[in-house]
Amino acid sequence: MTQSGRRGKKNSMKYYSLNKSAPVVDFKEATIRGLAPDKGLYFPESISKYDNNFFTEINNYTEEEIAFKIIQPYIGDVIPENELKKIVVETINFEIPLIKVNEAISSLELFHGPTLAFKDVGARFMSRCLGYFMKNNNRKITVLVATSGDTGGAVANGFYNVVGVEVVILYPSGKVSNVQEKQLVTLGNNIHALEIRGTFDDCQQMVKQAFLDDYLNKKLFLTSANSINVARWLPQQFYYFFAWKQWNDKKNPPVISVPSGNFGNICAGLLAHISGLPVKHFIAACNANKVVPEFLQTQNYHPEKAIATISNAMDVGDPSNFIRILELFHHQFADLKNTLSSYSISDEQTKQTIKEVYEKENYLLDPHGAVAYTALQDYQKKYPDQKGYILETAHPVKFYDVVEPVIQQKVPIPESVKDILHKEKHSILMNADFEKLKEYLLEKYNRE
Ligand SMILES: *Cc1c(COP(=O)(O)O)cnc(C)c1O
Repeated sequence: MTQSGRRGKKNSMKYYSLNKSAPVVDFKEATIRGLAPDKGLYFPESISKYDNNFFTEINNYTEEEIAFKIIQPYIGDVIPENELKKIVVETINFEIPLIKVNEAISSLELFHGPTLAFKDVGARFMSRCLGYFMKNNNRKITVLVATSGDTGGAVANGFYNVVGVEVVILYPSGKVSNVQEKQLVTLGNNIHALEIRGTFDDCQQMVKQAFLDDYLNKKLFLTSANSINVARWLPQQFYYFFAWKQWNDKKNPPVISVPSGNFGNICAGLLAHISGLPVKHFIAACNANKVVPEFLQTQNYHPEKAIATISNAMDVGDPSNFIRILELFHHQFADLKNTLSSYSISDEQTKQTIKEVYEKENYLLDPHGAVAYTALQDYQKKYPDQKGYILETAHPVKFYDVVEPVIQQKVPIPESVKDILHKEKHSILMNADFEKLKEYLLEKYNRE
């Protein structure tokens, strides 16, 4: 039974489904549900606007104050202020520095969290919100998540040992890096890994189907932790504001290049911008999976099967968050095009950039950051005076199998990663077949 409409909260943001045929809900229900009953993504009924003073005086605010100010309107009173402050502080308890690579390009390093990837921010925020919501609930909730790489590790780490929450992670066999896999399969306890014989899109499809299965949802209390979840999407705005705080030339806002797969990260940036954050232009940097670059050229949106690349966390053929971007721009193609460009970068170019930037600038990019870097350079060829930054979404050591042969050097492994390389793998190999997943979940449920 849903709880929407019964509580009549005055101060809570409402979320509607982008398919427009499900009831509006508050942040709590949107977080727990993940996807609306009509299969649509949730979207906030109104978008915060922060006044100009906030942006000119941002240096007077701490990171915690900024983050709280950004997120609070989207939560309302479903989480009390003091609890939300705690959640925010825990979410961002690692540094997010903006590092100058050269005069024209800086790098916003989002990889200083526990799993060395930007998804730590969203996963940590969501896990703590869910933990808060489940506190007084005697039913266990099962988080079901498909990962093309980093989501799984960040979610596993974020939820590890959270009371009342079980996590089941699906990942494509042989298509995630060794370090990424280790982060999924070595925790144990409430974290369960399923190794799927298929692609990320297969994994995502199986998860989507699970949420639509009536019987399964009667038996289990299921939720998602994919980037479609509002509790992961919205906190990703934080670091765009942190970057602005560190941006020296406040008269000339940055061009921001975001390595994009499911388009959750860049969608958070666009939301921040519509809320008032000064940004010159956004670049959605893609690998060979180029549905969006083609859409921006032709206005035709053609989802494709995912193509495997060396920036595998972006191997997405049908980006789930793109619909939210269209909504942000009221489906006005011309407005969107004014704000957003998109480039498709090949594996060859990506490797070339890793090598060049390492040799010229003494800065080591991971393959995802390198895609963003290449796209920003391409943009700057057209607009040479525009300075900008990339989002460096993962530590290069997570992709040492790609990076090391390119720079012909070893990437030192941080202690936190070293530990897990020796741990035993616990995962279940499964065909890309929804019935198999259903069987597994029901069996697990019956045992509990
Ligand atoms: C997930 C991921 C991306 C893509 O982010 P989206 O929000 O899905 O567009 C980029 N880089 C890395 C390292 C990732 O893990």
